[in-house]
Amino acid sequence: IKHPQKVQEEEKALPGVKNIIAVSSGKGGVGKSTVASNLAVALAGLGYKVGLLDADIFGPSVPKMFHLEGEPIYAEEIDGKQMMIPALKYGVELLSIGFFIKTEAAALWRGAMASNALKQLIEEVKWGELDYFIIDTPPGTSDIHLTLLQTLAITGTVIVSTPQQVALADARKGIDMYRNEKVNVPILGLVENMAWFTPAELPQNKYYLFGREGVKQLAEEMNVPLLGQIPIVQSICDSGDNGEPVAANPQTMTGIAFRNLAEQVV
Ligand code: ADP
Repeated sequence: IKHPQKVQEEEKALPGVKNIIAVSSGKGGVGKSTVASNLAVALAGLGYKVGLLDADIFGPSVPKMFHLEGEPIYAEEIDGKQMMIPALKYGVELLSIGFFIKTEAAALWRGAMASNALKQLIEEVKWGELDYFIIDTPPGTSDIHLTLLQTLAITGTVIVSTPQQVALADARKGIDMYRNEKVNVPILGLVENMAWFTPAELPQNKYYLFGREGVKQLAEEMNVPLLGQIPIVQSICDSGDNGEPVAANPQTMTGIAFRNLAEQVV
């Protein structure tokens, strides 16, 4: 892999896109895909033109979260080249590696193969003139991250973590990677997901299942903004399974939480 800095900024892909935001996490299972998907839908709800690329090669979840599994993706010939047309749902142009391969197969791919597949999803696609291009990156730091940094002029990253100690330790590593002078991607802020749980029958009570405000403290310590705190809510979990992101209903409590998050990002 070529070093990210060896590619000139002006040579990078998607020059027509105004903001390219990588949603990342140190640890898996903290809600990174949930935040990326709902952030994209909430930004579209604010009237922006939004694209979402599911680059989580080893665990793509966007097809399920948008109820688009098995959906065919069409291509169009433009200037003698076949260009894929992204799917469109809830106002978001989206593509996922999961549309093309089975997760079990991708898990056996070598880094170079995964990186090539990802480059095609960026460069051989008729992405529109977007205000925001949201990328759901794989957890941790990998070849995929290097490919993204090398291919795209990333505006900044949003890092998702739960307040649990193991997740925080990995989030800290992610912050260090993006701050590394060779990478140097601005950190737009942290999102504390699964911040607390409030049972329906005890609406005044907050239970801090994964610890209290760990991400808020990490944000203060690392001097980065805390963009939002999202509680554990049954509807968020259900929406991941039934294919309608909660942000598609902006009048609900969870819809408002993601709209507030989107407003922090713009
Ligand atoms: P990651 O992308 O970090 O692996 P996901 O977004 O796939 O994580 O989330 C993991 C699981 O947790 C999913 O089943 C998702 O629906 C659920 N989940 C994520 N955030 C919340 C939340 N705030 N409340 C309830 N369930 C959540």
